Amino acid sequence: MWSLFALLLGLVVGSFLNVVIHRIPRKESIAFPPSRCPHCGHPLGPLDLVPVLSYLLLKGRCRYCARPISPRYPLVEALTGGLFLLASRFYPPGVEAFLVFAFLAFLVALSFLDLDTFELPD
Ligand SMILES: [Zn+2]
Repeated sequence: MWSLFALLLGLVVGSFLNVVIHRIPRKESIAFPPSRCPHCGHPLGPLDLVPVLSYLLLKGRCRYCARPISPRYPLVEALTGGLFLLASRFYPPGVEAFLVFAFLAFLVALSFLDLDTFELPD
């Protein structure tokens, strides 16, 4: 049960990290506006935002304009979910586990931000 919770939490956190990774370099708010298609600007509904599953069900295309969605979005979600799942095998439920989850999320966000911008110091 703990592992399933960790996986689902990681998928949701990964979805949020996609917002962070996309908006921080553009100096946009991570809270507002709600998620939109980067091509047509249509606001995304709850069914468009289910981590990994939405991408698979929509076959990697926007529901509204049918333009391709970067596979990086489900990749970041799956990676974060996988890392949380892996961490849950080593850390029982508790404060320490959530600190590890937060640290992993931080590392995923920094990795992809640096991949895009090369702004993190070596
Ligand atoms: Zn679109």
